[in-house]
Amino acid sequence: MTSSLTTVAYIIAGVLFILSLGGLSNQESSRRGNMYGIIGMLIAAIATTVTIKSSGYPVLGGVMAVGAIIGGLLAARVAMTSMPQLVAILHSFVGLAAVLVGYASYLAPGQTLTGTEARIHEAEIFIGVFIGAITFTGSVIAWGKLQGKIGSKPLMLPGRHFINLGMVIASVVLMVQFMGLPNHGGLMQLGIMTGIACVLGAHLVMAIGGADMPVVVSMLNSYSGWAASAAGFMLSNDLLIITGALVGSSGAILSYIMCKAMNRSIANVIFGGFGAEAGTVVKRKDGDAPGEVTAVEADDTASMLKGSKRVIVVPGYGMAVAQAQHPLFEVTKELQKSGVDVKFAIHPVAGRLPGHMNVLLAEAKVPYSIVLEMDEINEDFPETDVVLVIGANDIVNPGALDDPDSPIYGMPVLEAWKAATVVVMKRGMATGYSGVDNPLFYKTNTRMLFGDAKKNVDAILGTLRP
Ligand code: NDP
Repeated sequence: MTSSLTTVAYIIAGVLFILSLGGLSNQESSRRGNMYGIIGMLIAAIATTVTIKSSGYPVLGGVMAVGAIIGGLLAARVAMTSMPQLVAILHSFVGLAAVLVGYASYLAPGQTLTGTEARIHEAEIFIGVFIGAITFTGSVIAWGKLQGKIGSKPLMLPGRHFINLGMVIASVVLMVQFMGLPNHGGLMQLGIMTGIACVLGAHLVMAIGGADMPVVVSMLNSYSGWAASAAGFMLSNDLLIITGALVGSSGAILSYIMCKAMNRSIANVIFGGFGAEAGTVVKRKDGDAPGEVTAVEADDTASMLKGSKRVIVVPGYGMAVAQAQHPLFEVTKELQKSGVDVKFAIHPVAGRLPGHMNVLLAEAKVPYSIVLEMDEINEDFPETDVVLVIGANDIVNPGALDDPDSPIYGMPVLEAWKAATVVVMKRGMATGYSGVDNPLFYKTNTRMLFGDAKKNVDAILGTLRP
């Protein structure tokens, strides 16, 4: 393939990636966006492969085939609830790839660069390996936390900010020593820095707790983009630079949007220390509200729903665990047949990954027109007869608005308690991801429908259907 043909292919792929990001910003166009991304990636892979003048095609083909099979199997088998873990571990591969490319680039024989060009190349290698190593171990820890292999509680080492700062300063010193050393003489500095960056990545994410994990996943997405971009500089591959920059900047923008949705600053999230262990039952403080909850049964819930004019459904992580979205849409259709106005309210961090609930509801074929974002629906709660909270907890916690002592104070939430009646479907009194108690459960207008969400939605459907 001639270099001008490669350039044209790269430009087309670059444009397709931009169109892909544009498409993914909206639920209706997301399928098309995905398709643009797939075609762009195919063009990029083919153009890059045929451009390489190498005798190693059989090895390359074999490795790509094995990778494609493993990737395909993993993606086909992964449960929707485990998607964030998959995304996190895939980010770790990008980080590791950047580290390996950095070393290969440094050790490659026949380097012809001299003077400033050589220094720039060395800087690319050093910075690329640094970002790649942070992304690699940070993503592995994020995977461990999301998979439940590592506790979600933040690790708060004394003087942890100074430890991090020390590691960054040590890396800068090593970089100064590394630059300009001839004949691969800087391998030791590169190796020590890689070790330090690996510890830094792990430590940074270990210090981040429960409720901030969504932002961390999106930030690691951003880091993996910058790592890929750095690898693009090392390999002099323009498309990798562009793609990496697109991923890096879109991940950074998503992190910013999520921080805004949680009323947190990026710095506050990065420096960690927020959130506790999920799934615990929290003891209530002395002087708190009585702590009594009112239980309800599925058939009473069905009657309440049927007798309502307006119903809002608030889905959360528990709906994904129970896979209750399909019968839930059947319930919606039954209620609509009886003239009930049903809407779905989506919190930006509901579930375990951005857009988690939108994907599940789209899978169940719930029309986009009745699925509303938090800002669009929050003012409708006071005029609502029944709010059905399905496996959601943190995103409907009133403490986020009125309890300055709450660790999630300041996070915007769906104000479900303003409705006439709230029915909360969950298995017991366990906390959500951030590990904090939820005063909503003890309110006088709240009814708790205990049990697995799917079983209960099935039971409601059984009552509604003649
Ligand atoms: P939460 O984690 O706050 O609460 C989920 C609730 O679902 C639990 O309290 C649990 O209670 C209940 N549950 C679990 N399984 C079932 C089941 N089978 N049937 C019925 N209920 C069930 O989820 P939310 O969606 O409200 O909030 C999301 C949280 O996750 C936020 O803190 C967010 O910051 C965080 N997060 C979000 C990410 C994202 O990108 N969206 C990524 C990572 C974390 P019980 O055990 O009693 O049933």
